[in-house]
Amino acid sequence: MKYQCKCKTFEVHKTTIKVVDGKVVKPETYCNECNTYGEYIKEHKGYGGIIKKPNGTIAKRSDLNM
Ligand SMILES: [Zn+2]
Repeated sequence: MKYQCKCKTFEVHKTTIKVVDGKVVKPETYCNECNTYGEYIKEHKGYGGIIKKPNGTIAKRSDLNM
């Protein structure tokens, strides 16, 4: 699975879910270079996975592969 942070894209094969400051994050996708958690990139269907809403809540897509 590919993830994108602010400075690069990278592959993460196994992720775990953790809640930090009320947000769902995957510690394995954290990039130490830009201090950002990577966003999951759905390679064949464009942007997908976690949808961030303006009010700060996170909606999980039912087809999110975890
Ligand atoms: Zn980065």
